[in-house]
Amino acid sequence: MTQNLETFKNLLAEISDLSGIASVLSWDKETQMPRGGIETRAVQGATLARIIHQKGTASALKELLTQLEPEFAAQESFEGALVRQVRRDFDRKSKLPTEFVAEFSQARARSSNAWQEARGKNDFKTFLPHLEKMFEMAAKAANHYDSSVHPFDALLFDYDPGLKTEDIRGIFADLRSETVPLVKAIAAKGETVDYSILKRHFDIDKQKAFALEVSQAFGYDLNRGRLDPTAHPFAINFSRDDVRMTTRYDPNYLPMAMFGTFHEAGHAMYEQNTGEHLRRTPLARGCWSTVHESQSRLWENLVGRSRAFWQHWFPKLQTYFPESLHDVDAQMMYKLVNRVQPSLIRVEADEITYNLHIMLRFELELAVFEGNLKVSDLPEAWNAKMQDYLGITPPDDARGVMQDVHWSEALFAYFPTYSLGNILSVQLLETARENLGDLNGMFAAGEYAPLLGWLREHVHQHGKTYLPPDLIARATGKPLTAKPYLAYLENKFSDLYGL
Ligand code: ZN
Repeated sequence: MTQNLETFKNLLAEISDLSGIASVLSWDKETQMPRGGIETRAVQGATLARIIHQKGTASALKELLTQLEPEFAAQESFEGALVRQVRRDFDRKSKLPTEFVAEFSQARARSSNAWQEARGKNDFKTFLPHLEKMFEMAAKAANHYDSSVHPFDALLFDYDPGLKTEDIRGIFADLRSETVPLVKAIAAKGETVDYSILKRHFDIDKQKAFALEVSQAFGYDLNRGRLDPTAHPFAINFSRDDVRMTTRYDPNYLPMAMFGTFHEAGHAMYEQNTGEHLRRTPLARGCWSTVHESQSRLWENLVGRSRAFWQHWFPKLQTYFPESLHDVDAQMMYKLVNRVQPSLIRVEADEITYNLHIMLRFELELAVFEGNLKVSDLPEAWNAKMQDYLGITPPDDARGVMQDVHWSEALFAYFPTYSLGNILSVQLLETARENLGDLNGMFAAGEYAPLLGWLREHVHQHGKTYLPPDLIARATGKPLTAKPYLAYLENKFSDLYGL
């Protein structure tokens, strides 16, 4: 048995090495590669992906798994978690017929190209057949995975195993009834600060230096990381010892790179702090989408958009930009970075309206999967919901139904995890506060080590050892609940806007 376990671990280590190499190639493609390299790199990536897939679905691995399961599958140990995770992956992959995977992957690539072109031309009609195909194939995939459950549940398993559509409906109903009146009350108040301050000139090199200074203070380890510019920000892990992040800059808009970097630093610190014993295994990753997003949102919003944070950091920021910020102080900065305003684009939305963008997508996806909405009617349904939730109507489909990449790549059931990450971030922070005491005092002193230490102990070090519901219950003593998050929104924004 020891021999089998060794062989099993060696196989997984090889797969993990190859995946790390594939990630290096993909990081390089997004940040460094000359345009001419695109086609060859795509072929190289496909070759690697094929080898990884072969190793991950090989009969040798399956046999080892079957032999190890009787002893380890029910064990509360590292080996037990490893065996369960490999079984989950293995079963998931083997449920889709090979021809279906190939067809889906080709259709997805075509759809993604069509979306890019159609969005540029604001032409939903040319994208429509591809989007119909994406919904149709995702429904087929859901049916292959598990025809006995709601298709949305079958798809959700990839992003948040254990989470159910019905749970999301319940949580979102609470969130909606709290959020919609709050947005209206804030709009009725009118604006008290001059937000154009954030659109003054901010030198890009200085933006980068400040974002990195803060990220390091949070605990992002630059010995095992770096920051580069890209069109679409992301964090990527080659191993726990090399976790890189990217951001995008606008010299005439300060918040984008700053909060974008805090966000990615949250993801990256999670990956840097997975347990050393998980190295070169499929468990050396953050625990799926909701928990991952809770970490990025925690540092971006709960820390980075807090009053205590700006008490400490505003004087420093002012030394980076003495001219552009000469007439601002910490309290004003706190107001500036917490503007609530209904807007068209999800990724630019504030803390409150962001969730309404997510609910809209969740409800539309469900309506299509449940046969209550035709894909061709999505633009109209989108605009109606925008009007209903946010009081605005997109002037075109490029800034409406076609704004996100997700649907063009059949990433359905993914959106809810963004809002659930927001919800979980507060649940975790409040539990940490019960354990650690005066977190605001620490933030005001620029001290983050106690918080990061708590997160490392209760969340990060476990990687994928537990499924999300278990991890959440272990870390906070409760299942995922929207209550702390709703109280946080209410308190923070009532105070900010004098409601
Ligand atoms: Zn994120």
